[in-house]
Amino acid sequence: MNHCLRRYHTFALPVRARQVITVESLEDLSRAYQQVQRAKQPLLLLGEGSNTLFCEDFQGTILLIRLKGLQVEERAEAWHLRVAAGENWHQLVDYTIQQGMAGLENLALIPGSVGAAALQNIGAYGVEFKQFCRYVDLIDLQQGQPVRLPASACQFAYRDSLFKHLEHQRWVIVGVGLNIPKAWHPCLTYGELTPLSTPVVPQALFNTICAIRRAKLPDPLLLGNAGSFFKNPLITKHQLQDLLSRYPDLPYYPHSQRQVKVAAGWLIEQSGLKGCRIGDAAVHQQQALVLVNLGHATPQQVLALAKHIHQQIKQQFAISLEPEICLMGATGPLNPAEVLA
Ligand SMILES: Cc1cc2nc3c(=O)[nH]c(=O)nc-3n(C[C@H](O)[C@H](O)[C@H](O)COP(=O)(O)OP(=O)(O)OC[C@H]3O[C@@H](n4cnc5c(N)ncnc54)[C@H](O)[C@@H]3O)c2cc1C
Repeated sequence: MNHCLRRYHTFALPVRARQVITVESLEDLSRAYQQVQRAKQPLLLLGEGSNTLFCEDFQGTILLIRLKGLQVEERAEAWHLRVAAGENWHQLVDYTIQQGMAGLENLALIPGSVGAAALQNIGAYGVEFKQFCRYVDLIDLQQGQPVRLPASACQFAYRDSLFKHLEHQRWVIVGVGLNIPKAWHPCLTYGELTPLSTPVVPQALFNTICAIRRAKLPDPLLLGNAGSFFKNPLITKHQLQDLLSRYPDLPYYPHSQRQVKVAAGWLIEQSGLKGCRIGDAAVHQQQALVLVNLGHATPQQVLALAKHIHQQIKQQFAISLEPEICLMGATGPLNPAEVLA
């Protein structure tokens, strides 16, 4: 196990892999894939590792997707962007705002790559990636074929998409197509944004979002973490009524006709788990939804803490939290239900 993975993922755990290959072109991708096939090794695609928990050493090769490139086409009503998967998401948002193409500002400062932003359908402050997606470009590694999927075929949902469910080790997102309408409709519905005085300008909204995030979330460069560890759970309106009778302060948000989303961070805080620590893995003092590496955490400690939280929430609220983060085992993704059981 030659390669330490600490600097390739934001949790910064002491895990290793057999090999790490940087992919900067489609030729690199095809070469690396053939090499891995010949060696009969498991393969893992990695962007910036800001949504990945390595649960143990990875017994194979990691391809770091560093494909770069951005094309902008101006249309009458919108800008059409084609962005390579290895571009950094926040730098893209910053660039669009600088260039007067407003729209992505609520998604500022979300770490990670453009490719993973599509896979994860990232979201923040009432806005999701899917609202701007025109298409996703993939390569089928087995056939060597490019495929362009329109957004309507990507099955985007809350922190979910078709790409999370495709055959592992076969499909690579190589780029995305975005549509940024020229008519700008700022989204100020999220609590902390409502006090912004209107009319607001895109740069001010971008700056506000960045300031809120810097104040609220631990910087992975200083304190290892991968953002929200769990998704905000979806529950039925019937379950909500039951919970509200016991916890009238429970924060919840509309989701669909039948379901509402409740704040996982609130549930964890309510269970008295803020600051809870197992070894060097801890629940962040300010943000209960974020698990942090205080310095020398091991994957086992992070998993033990995640399991403990899962059990406590289940016991107290009869809600089964689902991880938002991708759990990676020795040869591929792990089943979260089995890991947390
Ligand atoms: C401090 C902090 C704050 C965060 N805040 C938010 C937030 O507000 N909203 C939000 O939605 N997320 C948030 N996240 C989570 C994270 O930033 C996003 O999920 C991001 O999209 C992950 O990008 P990445 O490149 O680091 O993904 P990685 O962790 O590298 O990869 C994630 C998954 O995608 C797969 N993958 C990566 N690239 C490709 C590709 N090109 N093709 C196919 N599969 C690929 C990987 O195999 C892995 O399974 C936060 C994380 C941190 C650390």
